[in-house]
Amino acid sequence: KGERLRLPPWLKTEIPIGKNYNKLKNTLRDLNLHTVCEEARCPNIGECWGGGEYSTATATIMLMGDTCTRGCRFCSVKTARRPPPLDPDEPYNTAKAIAAWGLDYVVLTSVDRDDIADGGAEHFAKTVSTLKEKEPRILVECLTPDFRGDLAAVEKIALSGLDVYAHNVETVRELQRHVRDPRANFDQSLSVLRHAKRVKSTVLTKTSIMLGLGETDQQIQDTLTELREAKVDCLTLGQYMQPTKRHLKVKEYVTPEKFAHWEKVGNDMGFVYTASGPLVRSSYKAGEFFLKNLLE
Ligand code: SF4
Ligand code: SF4
Repeated sequence: KGERLRLPPWLKTEIPIGKNYNKLKNTLRDLNLHTVCEEARCPNIGECWGGGEYSTATATIMLMGDTCTRGCRFCSVKTARRPPPLDPDEPYNTAKAIAAWGLDYVVLTSVDRDDIADGGAEHFAKTVSTLKEKEPRILVECLTPDFRGDLAAVEKIALSGLDVYAHNVETVRELQRHVRDPRANFDQSLSVLRHAKRVKSTVLTKTSIMLGLGETDQQIQDTLTELREAKVDCLTLGQYMQPTKRHLKVKEYVTPEKFAHWEKVGNDMGFVYTASGPLVRSSYKAGEFFLKNLLE
C-alpha cells in the first residue's frame, strides 16, 4: 500500500498577495457569498483576488448548495442522494452580490445535482444572465457538471451570456473510473465541451487535468490531442493533492519542470492558453490569463 509521499519544497512556498486582495476580503463580509477560494482554503487566493499584471481579480463562487449527489475519489465535498432543494432566489441574490463586489472575472461553479431534472442548468443560466444584466463589464466563466451528457442543459448555459465554458475532464482517459464518480466518463465530458463550442463558437471552452494520479506521459499527450480535436480552447494542469486520508493517494509529486514542459506542449498544440504548475487549479488566475490572451 505504501507510505504517504513527503511534500516537496515547491509546494511549501509562500504565494504573493496582489493589491486588490484586501479590498475584496473586506467587502465580502456583508454579501453572503460562498467563495470556493475561502472555503477550500485555496493557496492561490492572494494571487487570484489580488490580480496581477492586468489587475484582474478572479474568484470562484459555488452555486446550488454544498452537497453533491456524486462522490469522486479526489474530492472532499460532502455527498447525499437528495441534497436540500435549490434556493429559487439564489440566481438573483448571487448575481446582485457579485455585481456589488467589484470583481473583474468570476467563476461560477456547482456541485453535481443529479437529483434535479435539468441538473440545475436553468439555475446556472439565470445567474449568468442576471449578473450580465447588472454588470456587463464582468467576465463570467461557468465551471459546470457534465449534466449526464444532457446537451440541452449544456446549450442553455452556453447561450446564457457567459464568456468561458469550463468543464473538467479531471484526469486522463485511462484513469477516469479510478478517479471520478462512475456516472462520469471521458467521452461524456468531451461531448459537453464539444457541444458548448458548437452552439456558440465565440465562447472559449476550457478544461482541467490533475497530475500525480499515476498517469503516464503518453496518456497525458493522448488526452491533450483528444481535447484539441474537440476544439477545447484553454487547458490547465495542476498537482493532485489528497484532501483527507480517505481520498485517493498522491502517486507522484510532479516537478515544476515537468509542469513547464506540459505548458509548452499545450501552447505548441494550439490551445489559446495553457496554465500548468503544481498549484494551478482550474480557476487559477483565470481573469489574468483571459485578458492576457485577449490583448496579445
Ligand atoms: Fe479561488 Fe480558484 Fe483562485 Fe483558488 S485558484 S483562489 S479557488 S479562483
Ligand atoms: Fe466533487 Fe464535483 Fe465529483 Fe461532486 S461531481 S464529488 S463536487 S468533483
